[in-house]
Amino acid sequence: MKIAIFGTGYVGLVTGTCLADVGHDVICMDVDADKVSRLKRGEIPIYEPGLESMVRDNMHAGRLRFTTDPAEAVTFGLLQFIAVGTPADEDGSADLQYVLAVAKTIGEHMDDYKVVIDKSTVPVGTADKVGAALSQALAKRGSQLEFDVCSNPEFLKEGAAIDDFTRGARIVVGTDSERVEALMRECYAPYNRNHEKLMFMDVRSAELTKYAANAMLATKISFMNEIANLAERLGADIEEVRRGIGSDPRIGYHFIYPGCGYGGSCFPKDVQALARTAGQVGYPAELLGAVEAVNRRQKTTLFTKLQRAFDGELKGKTIALWGLAFKPDTDDMREAPSRALMEALWAVGAKVQAHDPEAMDECRRLYGQRNDLTLADSREAAVEGADALVICTEWKSYRTVDFAWLKRELATPVIVDGRNLFEPDAVKQAGILYFAVGRGESS
Ligand code: NAD
Repeated sequence: MKIAIFGTGYVGLVTGTCLADVGHDVICMDVDADKVSRLKRGEIPIYEPGLESMVRDNMHAGRLRFTTDPAEAVTFGLLQFIAVGTPADEDGSADLQYVLAVAKTIGEHMDDYKVVIDKSTVPVGTADKVGAALSQALAKRGSQLEFDVCSNPEFLKEGAAIDDFTRGARIVVGTDSERVEALMRECYAPYNRNHEKLMFMDVRSAELTKYAANAMLATKISFMNEIANLAERLGADIEEVRRGIGSDPRIGYHFIYPGCGYGGSCFPKDVQALARTAGQVGYPAELLGAVEAVNRRQKTTLFTKLQRAFDGELKGKTIALWGLAFKPDTDDMREAPSRALMEALWAVGAKVQAHDPEAMDECRRLYGQRNDLTLADSREAAVEGADALVICTEWKSYRTVDFAWLKRELATPVIVDGRNLFEPDAVKQAGILYFAVGRGESS
């Protein structure tokens, strides 16, 4: 099938590449000329395991191309995927300007029937707005060409995006058109072979499904963080509690890890946007508000623990930080807990020596050159001359540590572990003060 994808970010690039990989003809369009020229050279602007070779293979096979020309993309694809960003607006609702700009572009350039597919995460009712923007652009040209709009939210996780796209639990499509259903079946047929993964439903339900999924996952995280904070005050160990509750199949082990708050480009903005949507229909979504509030507080927990360790005297201290990305296997630092911590440390006059296996370029891009930020080549270099170590991201390469070495390196032997990577006894036996999340009094 001939497919156009608008937006070559995490979702658009992965969608385009995976669809090309199963034999479709794909063109990816982005307004970011620099990104497109890098992609044309086979350079991947994001870190996503396995993506680079897949992009190159499909480019060489002639099934995947990149362009900045919207007309070329619109006329090429029967299916038009909108995969542009939907950041939070000032009031927390989803900003639809990029989505609607693409809809307008499609209306301006289409020369035949098109299926317009909302892959971006968009609030309930957006498909109607996309349809209206498109109709308006067509009307301006005096055109009566036909089109359909459907919802096809994406559930991939950064860091496992290819696997999620190709082997995900479900493919949700919201449409009331049989024609669209048949075309979407054809598009996803290669991913729907072993068992039926395609779920067809009405557009509004599909749009809400995406927000409900992210809000549910964010709720699990905030719930565990709430219990972890309680465990800390009650002298219980949240890791034991986690094992205890996870063993119940009604609860399960997934997504119940306590930590220093969720980040990334999706959970924070999607929980907020859903709460805004609720407000717009006069429903006070109290649980969503609490999930958000608990998360905001949890992002301050590392700083609070450091303050406790240093009796509030953080000025002039050098803090080593392992992990900048909001989670492992990505270079994405959007809403990352590391940022909340670094910014709080800088505000009190402390310095940061940070390391991350993938996100250092992104950190440089975000913060530029600063006297109070050193990006270290290795986790060892980050610790050199530091007063304390904080772990923000649970990269595998941080899991095994020689605590005797750390004790020698750190001026004040303190570890604040935002991901509960270590056994408290092992750290304490090495003579290091260890603050974890929800692990008894010393937390
Ligand atoms: P991103 O910011 O990485 O990429 C968006 C891309 O769209 C950018 O390259 C930008 O230049 C491009 N763009 C903006 N306006 C454009 C236009 N008019 N025409 C063509 N391209 C344009 O975003 P992302 O992380 O890929 O997310 C995209 C959408 O998917 C969002 O709605 C997000 O909520 C949703 N989503 C993201 C993830 C994730 O893990 N990142 C997962 C599921 C769903």
